[in-house]
Amino acid sequence: MVNFDDMAGAAVEDRHAVTAQVLDTVRRFVAREVIPVASKYEHADEYPQPLVDRMRELGLFGATIPAEYGGLGLDYTTYAMIVEELCRGWMSLSGVLNTHLMFAYVLQMHGTAEQKARYLPALARGEHRAALCLTEPHAGSDAQRIRTTAVRRGDHYVVNGSKMFITNARTATIYSLVAKTDPSADPPYKGISLFAAEKDAPGVTVGRQLDKLGYKGIETCEVSFEDFRVPAANLIGGAEGRGFTQVMSGLEVGRINIAARAVGVAQAAFEDAIRYAQERRTFGKPICEHQAIQLKLADMATKIEAARLLTRQAAGMKDRGERVDLQAGMAKLFASETCQEVSLEAMRILGGYGYVKEFAVERYYRDAPLMIIGEGTNEIQRLVIARSLVQRYKI
Ligand SMILES: Cc1cc2nc3c(=O)[nH]c(=O)nc-3n(C[C@H](O)[C@H](O)[C@H](O)COP(=O)(O)OP(=O)(O)OC[C@H]3O[C@@H](n4cnc5c(N)ncnc54)[C@H](O)[C@@H]3O)c2cc1C
Repeated sequence: MVNFDDMAGAAVEDRHAVTAQVLDTVRRFVAREVIPVASKYEHADEYPQPLVDRMRELGLFGATIPAEYGGLGLDYTTYAMIVEELCRGWMSLSGVLNTHLMFAYVLQMHGTAEQKARYLPALARGEHRAALCLTEPHAGSDAQRIRTTAVRRGDHYVVNGSKMFITNARTATIYSLVAKTDPSADPPYKGISLFAAEKDAPGVTVGRQLDKLGYKGIETCEVSFEDFRVPAANLIGGAEGRGFTQVMSGLEVGRINIAARAVGVAQAAFEDAIRYAQERRTFGKPICEHQAIQLKLADMATKIEAARLLTRQAAGMKDRGERVDLQAGMAKLFASETCQEVSLEAMRILGGYGYVKEFAVERYYRDAPLMIIGEGTNEIQRLVIARSLVQRYKI
């Protein structure tokens, strides 16, 4: 077993070895501890506490948090590989990490020195667990139209409003809370601020847990705030009006996560399908010897490889500090559409057995659409990509 405490302090030249060890450990965790139980938790829609505890032991809550704050300090390429591996086992597990590490990234990039010192070590240890409170019942894609307000009263802000679709709402201890400090600002995003809001205080109600098509086991809830007080010291970066830009920078990390998730789920669907295609016989031979099935397998594997390369390219650019909105958007778009296609093709290859709950393929098929909708829908993704391309090819 790898000692993850040692890894946090490993010298730069040892980082390749560290990365290989982390990936190997995650692979073994997924094979031995996740795959055997994923369907049981999923069908019961039960929170996988023992698996989350193991992820904490493995240091995954600090995966991308710098070693100086007690994290593993892994790069985003390795992070994407970890997410892919987890999702080969069960997509919901990556949701436990996603908003947590997005918040850690935003804090690292935009937090004050005091905010980083206060929160990053606890986030790395998984003692604080973060959720993102951005979406509202009337505002998802059009995030500038949120209505939640944060009004300054002395050394506090008083928050009122409702959030929707908040993943990890119950299990998180801290919210990355997006609110309007200037509702009359024009354009509206200039009036948006971001807070590190510790949840354990009066005025927060975690509402009903949504009954989802897939992405089960982890909770996605409504959350409302009524005269909820957040210390002014928890305004990220110490200045109002920067929240929209701050949270959007975190969404880049989120899109790499979603793209990697999609690759992992698609890979799992492909592996189940190619195994089954060699075992199932019709008309005197295994179905993998029928050309119609061969064409499917070839297209599935080729698209998954392309999605993986796009995802790793985006992650690599992020590691080099390059602007990555276009590549992360392309990776998220292509990987999630690929995942949707591949999971349906896998179901077709399994025939009737693909449609029943004894096989995991029906779960991949139900999990796939989340990647199309979450972290900015693919329609919005295409708009962002097109805008960026027009800018790049401006005449
Ligand atoms: C399971 C799940 C978990 C989630 N977790 C979180 C979370 O942890 N935190 C959080 O803050 N949010 C979370 N979300 C919210 C998610 O990010 C939003 O659902 C998503 O951004 C879409 O917003 P919406 O649902 O309001 O759809 P809308 O914005 O209402 O869009 C509806 C449709 O219109 C399309 N559309 C909208 N505007 C345009 C346009 N300009 N051009 C073309 N088409 C357009 C959309 O693509 C979509 O097809 C989660 C959602 C789900 C389903």
